[in-house]
Amino acid sequence: MQYNRHSGGYRQNRNPNRFRSFGRKRIDSRLYIKRADEFTKIEDIETKNSFTDFGLNAELTKNIKLKGYVKPTQIQDQVIPQIIKGRDILGIADTGTGKTAAFALPLIEKVLKNPNERILIMAPTRELAMQIKQEFRSFTWGLKVYITLAIGGSYLREQIMEIRRGPHVIVGTPGRIKDLGKRRVLDFSKIDTLVLDEVDRMLDMGFIGDIKSIVDQTPKSRQTLFFSATVDSKVERLIDTFLNNPVKISIKSPNPSSHVEQNIVRVGRNMRVEKLKELVSEADFKKVLIFGSTQITVERLATTLIQTGFRAEGLHGGKRQNVRQKIVKSFKENQINILVATDVAARGLDISDITHVINFDEPNNYQDYIHRIGRTGRGDSKGYALTFVE
Ligand code: AMP
Repeated sequence: MQYNRHSGGYRQNRNPNRFRSFGRKRIDSRLYIKRADEFTKIEDIETKNSFTDFGLNAELTKNIKLKGYVKPTQIQDQVIPQIIKGRDILGIADTGTGKTAAFALPLIEKVLKNPNERILIMAPTRELAMQIKQEFRSFTWGLKVYITLAIGGSYLREQIMEIRRGPHVIVGTPGRIKDLGKRRVLDFSKIDTLVLDEVDRMLDMGFIGDIKSIVDQTPKSRQTLFFSATVDSKVERLIDTFLNNPVKISIKSPNPSSHVEQNIVRVGRNMRVEKLKELVSEADFKKVLIFGSTQITVERLATTLIQTGFRAEGLHGGKRQNVRQKIVKSFKENQINILVATDVAARGLDISDITHVINFDEPNNYQDYIHRIGRTGRGDSKGYALTFVE
């Protein structure tokens, strides 16, 4: 795709409408335009350690190799030795940095050394919790390390049965975890290690009360691993109360979406659907994630695209959990190549080969924008993000 093709590229636009108002917040549309940096492959990043330097269990090291991870990412390089030492961690890192494996690998090692180890992981969304579980599973082939989910929207009874079997690791969303505590299925006083992933998003989603109540019930002697992409005053307060002399590791590149070429598409409201169809018909739009602001927009857009003959689906919080899971799977496995989604539904999606993100509706704030476009350009690949503006 040519950089200038859709909009005239970097030309500064004097259009007074470029500030669109969404309630209190405004995003200057110039922020949607940015060239991708020359991108660095994971293999090219300078790291001190190789996976064999961490002294991990031989089977586990074999599984890392089988998964195709050649070298640790920066966060893995720095965090893994500290977690193994038993230190608390404050990791400031975006998604896409490899932070899941950064905590999964040393925690699997902990369980292998001490099968009585009990780990609780909290994440903002069901999708992210499922991805964390999958990442753990991919490293525990042939090892006696068990992980189970505690997420809302899925069968409660099944989860209760699985938790009663005493898995080493429980990963879930704060609401369901708290509920399972109340039902006395989960005993937080037995937790040795607590992981809080994407804390900033958990706070955005209103989980603060649930998180505090859960953490309060865990032993003070626990090891705590705390990850957040951003740190504001609310997050800072939690850092102070939850962490004990943490090792602080910040892997924030100055430009968090450096692999993503960003541009705007100037199009009037009533021409948007036509423009969208035109774009997704282009050969290089191989796997496209489209953001709509509401469930209705998402539903309508998906239906229109399907009726036009595209392989598309809509993903939003109004759909049942098992339906959402199926849709994500079919996108992952390329049965469909267009996913239309709301912000909440798309959080934590780890699909590595999305070629384009299209903001059919503008995001509410710049942070959401960064989260959205971070769904493309994952790992080593370059991505494109287009934002429709009037
Ligand atoms: P995360 O930040 O944990 O969501 O990871 C982002 C992506 O990077 C995922 O698709 C991981 O599978 C991948 N990844 C993580 N660690 C490595 C590594 N050491 N080498 C190659 N890919 C990795």
